[in-house]
Amino acid sequence: MAELLAAKLVRDVPDFPKQGILFKDITPVLEDPAALKQAVNLIAADARAKGAEVIVGIESRGFIFGAPIALHLHVPFAMARKLGKLPYDKISEEYALEYGTNTVEMHIDSIKPGQKAYIVDDLLATGGTAAAAARLVERLKGSVCGFGCLIELSFLHGRETLLGYPVTALMEL
Ligand code: AMP
Repeated sequence: MAELLAAKLVRDVPDFPKQGILFKDITPVLEDPAALKQAVNLIAADARAKGAEVIVGIESRGFIFGAPIALHLHVPFAMARKLGKLPYDKISEEYALEYGTNTVEMHIDSIKPGQKAYIVDDLLATGGTAAAAARLVERLKGSVCGFGCLIELSFLHGRETLLGYPVTALMEL
């Protein structure tokens, strides 16, 4: 297996966005074309193997990886956006944060009935965001064939939240 170039580039930023959070900053990965290309290619290969017919990117860093993966596979790219950003008819799913809740939304026509959707984000933490995106896909009568990300914070047990969905992470931190 070739070395994962992104592994050395993810930067830890303590106490961002608030005290006690160790933020995984992927901007150095985005600034390294070879590392970004390798990460996109690896997640795209997984999405292809899972039979993805549409790639769902979670706002906002999921867009950075999701759109090139969709191009790579020549399948549609669908956005799961934060509350209030999508202009057309949409459905919403709320999920719990440490304090309060967040909401993700998708356009009602962004998933076709029966379509296999592969969900992409930069990082899996508790899995709440990815699970909400999965509920949106299923409410639109699609099925979730997998979830792919660059980084998994395994101590937060996001995989348990996503039980039943295959999860692929390029690195575990
Ligand atoms: P979760 O819903 O808990 O799995 O959180 C995942 C979402 O929050 C992803 O969109 C991540 O980009 C972001 N996120 C959560 N924790 C971190 C962290 N420690 N560093 C960077 N991003 C994070």
